[in-house]
Amino acid sequence: TLTNPELSDHTEKSASLYDQACEVIPGGVTANIKYFKPHPLVMERGEKSHLFDVDGNEYIDYLLCYGALILGHGHHSVFEAVQNQMTQAGTTIFGTPHRLEIEMANKLIDLYPGIEMVRYTNSGLEATQLALRIASAYTGKSKVAKFEGHYHGGYDQVLLSVNPDESKAGLDAAPNAVPESSGISDHHVKNTLILPFNNINATEKLLREHAKDLSAVIIEPVQGGFIPAKQSFLNGLRKVTEELGILLIFDEVKTGFRLGLGGAQEIYNIKPDLTALGKVLGGGFPVGAVGGKKEIMMISASNKGRDILTAGANNNHKNEVLFHSGTYNGHPTVLAAGLATIHVLEQGSMMKDLISKTESLRSQLESLYASKNIPMKTVGIGSIFNILFTKSAIENYRDMKHADRNLREKIDYELLKLGIYTKPLNRYSMSVVHTDEDILATVHAHEKAIERVVE
Ligand code: PLP
Repeated sequence: TLTNPELSDHTEKSASLYDQACEVIPGGVTANIKYFKPHPLVMERGEKSHLFDVDGNEYIDYLLCYGALILGHGHHSVFEAVQNQMTQAGTTIFGTPHRLEIEMANKLIDLYPGIEMVRYTNSGLEATQLALRIASAYTGKSKVAKFEGHYHGGYDQVLLSVNPDESKAGLDAAPNAVPESSGISDHHVKNTLILPFNNINATEKLLREHAKDLSAVIIEPVQGGFIPAKQSFLNGLRKVTEELGILLIFDEVKTGFRLGLGGAQEIYNIKPDLTALGKVLGGGFPVGAVGGKKEIMMISASNKGRDILTAGANNNHKNEVLFHSGTYNGHPTVLAAGLATIHVLEQGSMMKDLISKTESLRSQLESLYASKNIPMKTVGIGSIFNILFTKSAIENYRDMKHADRNLREKIDYELLKLGIYTKPLNRYSMSVVHTDEDILATVHAHEKAIERVVE
């Protein structure tokens, strides 16, 4: 049944392509989250802040490939950098060391307070996975701790309690580890400790209880890219992890280059032991990176690095080398796109303008909903925010249950018909190329959506 007949009236080609996809791709999508009812929209072209689907419908894009496209679609600097790189290199990839790996590493070391050395991966998932392996190898301990509601990629060790069912989630101060997929082994359920975000007392208590087994705490300093950690919470977490010999890993796959150029660690003035990056770093191409303290990162070194490593005091695995590999790691074309993206963001007041544009959209939307007496708040920081239909404080995953998801979903479907693209219930990401006209059109579309849904 079509929940959204008007939309489907104008998306026949999307519907038909989706049917074809379902014949050859399970569920018709290449990531489960890309599906929505009655069928996802099949896109054909992007231009700056806009997307065009196969039926010719135009949308202002707030999904931006889940935040990756901070320069919007088809930015000339990225296109030129990619073309120049391939022309000069005469190839897409060498499969050997090359200059851009060093250039990007130096850039990350300059920008991120916690980064002294860098390794590359092909996705954010691989970056957090490598960070956890480094932590385990370095500390000689095998358990990890993560926070309820936090996403670090879809692999077994951390695909727990991202969006748990209330009936299984356990106590506020000591959440259960709830698998988010079938097929996750019990081993990971037993070896992953779930912590309550923004609750330092409960977090500290759990960490002290499990300290002897814990290699690392991994955290999104801004949950889902939009619920900020309290400064006192992060300060407390840094202090207690240091005291207990547990490494602190900031997953900045979403927050990297989005809160500011130096991510959450710059804004909060906290040095994590390890940092995972992705998304914006690849300028729209697949990428990830792990950076961190030299002493810790050196555990992944081989050859000469290994000799240096064996002299290190804290290494419990002196005779073992940590395995890290990947055919496409440090892909030159990808790093050229990423460096071009960072260079654009470094120009003038680019980041400041992006953030104030985001704040302007947020405050206009809040005023609009307030004028209609609909309890709504935007929650976010930097260039990402979410819309929640509640007036309650939102400090963690459980608080989000107070929001009216039903209303949000209805509004989102109307917005799709009105040419505002974000996947229903998703957060909003902004780009440097969103214009004042886009913002005005977005606020108008919300006004119309409210009329259709509520009035
Ligand atoms: N970590 C965070 C905070 C993310 O938001 C994501 C993706 O959304 C990932 C890790 C995984 O990154 P990727 O999708 O590139 O594997």
